[in-house]
Amino acid sequence: MADECIFCGIVNDEIPAKIVYRDDEVVAFEDIKPVAPVHILVIPTRHIDSVRDLTREDDAMLGKLIGTANQLAKDKDIHDHGFRLNMNVGPNGGQTVYHLHVHLLGGRFMTWPPG
Ligand code: 5GP
Ligand code: ZN
Repeated sequence: MADECIFCGIVNDEIPAKIVYRDDEVVAFEDIKPVAPVHILVIPTRHIDSVRDLTREDDAMLGKLIGTANQLAKDKDIHDHGFRLNMNVGPNGGQTVYHLHVHLLGGRFMTWPPG
């Protein structure tokens, strides 16, 4: 766990969040400032700053993040219409919280390209 990391605080139940899924490797919770009717963040329980810090050892964990997001899309009834999975990476990618996370966005049409 990284000191001062908001998302590690959520994993450890020190910071409240609307958790929608949890197991030993992955936690998913509602974004505090949703930008779509469904906006869930899927994160690894182990702290890692961003995609830039991944190694091939993390391949299985990454697969689990995506698989969990896909399952949550079914649970939230946005699977049939489609949804967006988004990872912001570093300053130019617009990342603001440096604990790796996948945004699951759905419930409306997503425009392209992003801003
Ligand atoms: P990023 O910009 O790093 O890709 O996304 C970070 C996301 O975390 C943002 O969508 C932001 O609204 C969300 N967020 C930031 N702080 C908190 C928090 O304390 N609780 C929750 N649930 N979401 C947060
Ligand atoms: Zn963390």
